[in-house]
Amino acid sequence: MLALLAFHAAAFEGSQQREGVTLTSRDPGDALDATMRGRIIETFFSAYLRERADFHPGAPTQARIVIDPAYDGVAFVGEGDGAATITINPGWLARHPDDVDLVTHEAMHIVQGYPEYANERVPGWLVEGIADYARDRYGRDNAAAGWALPTAVKDGQRFDTGYRVTGAFLKWSEGQHPGLVKALDAALREGHYGPALWTQRTGMALPALWAAYVKTR
Ligand SMILES: [Zn+2]
Repeated sequence: MLALLAFHAAAFEGSQQREGVTLTSRDPGDALDATMRGRIIETFFSAYLRERADFHPGAPTQARIVIDPAYDGVAFVGEGDGAATITINPGWLARHPDDVDLVTHEAMHIVQGYPEYANERVPGWLVEGIADYARDRYGRDNAAAGWALPTAVKDGQRFDTGYRVTGAFLKWSEGQHPGLVKALDAALREGHYGPALWTQRTGMALPALWAAYVKTR
């Protein structure tokens, strides 16, 4: 009887559906404990359903999260098995257990679903700035991770510094011009983004808008 109780690390695979969105989670090496796995899944649904509803209701209804110890970054989004896939390094979560809102940033990349990345039509700084703007807006517990958009501008930073620096600029700009981020996101997805869009939406060219933002900091 005892011989049957052979415990060993088993691959985890599960699937959950909420509001028409199916998330498949795979953790082949069983790297996350059940609590962390639950937090990751909860954070995904909490963020993705709202990001999707607010920015792109046509965004994928199938998503995957894959835990990959061989990946040495933090997390990234790509395609795998025909579904938008968030790959996460479990080592990062082991060292930063409160950084679960990295999923909120990555989930926004699935919502974005832009046709290109890092060129004039889809600048990388803006893609990452929007994802961090979304992390701030839809995150469950950014404070626990010590994560926040900066309230000050440092020497050498620009509108196109990207990530949190651009995210804070977008948040301020959205406050001045409601609907701006949604318009930028839609233009990036539809392939007609250009610097002129900032002028159309705010009455100011991008460098002038940044200068106005810097004055308030
Ligand atoms: Zn990103």
